[in-house]
Amino acid sequence: VSATIIDGKGIAASIREEIAAQVRTFTERNGRRPGLGVVLCGDDPASAVYVRNKQRAADRAGFDFRLLTPDASASTAQLLDLVGGLVADDTVDGILVQLPLPRQVDQDAVVNAVPPEKDADGFHPYNFGQLAEGRMPVTAPCTALGCMELLRRSDVPVSGSNAVVIGRSTTVGRPMALLLTHADATVTMCHSKTRDLAAVARNADILVAAIGRPGMITAGHVKPGACVIDVGITPTESGVVGDVDRASVEPVAGWLTPVPGGVGPMTIALLLRNTLALAEAHAARRVTA
Ligand code: NAP
Repeated sequence: VSATIIDGKGIAASIREEIAAQVRTFTERNGRRPGLGVVLCGDDPASAVYVRNKQRAADRAGFDFRLLTPDASASTAQLLDLVGGLVADDTVDGILVQLPLPRQVDQDAVVNAVPPEKDADGFHPYNFGQLAEGRMPVTAPCTALGCMELLRRSDVPVSGSNAVVIGRSTTVGRPMALLLTHADATVTMCHSKTRDLAAVARNADILVAAIGRPGMITAGHVKPGACVIDVGITPTESGVVGDVDRASVEPVAGWLTPVPGGVGPMTIALLLRNTLALAEAHAARRVTA
């Protein structure tokens, strides 16, 4: 037997369709589309591709997508001004600042200028803090949410399972460990100082690799029948490569997400869901105000 390959591309497409239907309902009810404002500053080619993909998905799902592209030489003050404009704009529900920002900019200052109630990425310390306290905020980091959705829609049992997350970044590993804890898994978070990583990983019913080291996870890290979620994306000459050595792991694992076509497409789908959730919370505040 070999692993069931989890079709992230297909699952993401159905989530985007579900969201498009909810966006139509929102638009009819509120007389306006949910708005997502994105700031893309600088000339990082990968960022430009990410933003283009987000824009395409948002447009297709019926969002009002506003793209601001300040010059790569923009100052912190100029970016704070732009973000402030989006914050003040009542038709913008979610704001996303594409990272990295150019070196001369105080990235933290700009990111923290996005208030929690417009935090499309789920990175604001208030929302992150809620997650850490064991509550579900309106928005949480999109990639981790995407992994949880892959588990749910593939009927992978989470409650009571042993989950091992390799990687402790704010963007992926840490929120992933919190969401798994929230879903009643028993979670171990690993990193570059973890002793005997393979032995720890072999204890996992759910193994999440968010490392950024192509092919590092092999059969020796995987308990037979485990669900292996590969978050890694490393561009190579022959395309993007994950953290999991698929040829080695596929015969051992119970489920496996491919790269590409696994976690990647989920991130954008969950960004749309975050934005819609912000829009709905925004509309509800206007009703009660
Ligand atoms: P990151 O900030 O560089 O974090 C990597 C983590 O891996 C760190 O916690 C690091 O440990 C740990 N690590 C590094 N080498 C290790 C080793 N030999 N053994 C055990 N742990 C090790 O990266 P990230 O932003 O979390 O991203 C991780 C990967 O996911 C990257 O390939 C990235 O491109 C990808 N990604 C994909 C998506 C998507 O949509 N699919 C979204 C975001 C990121 P220390 O903390 O000890 O340094």
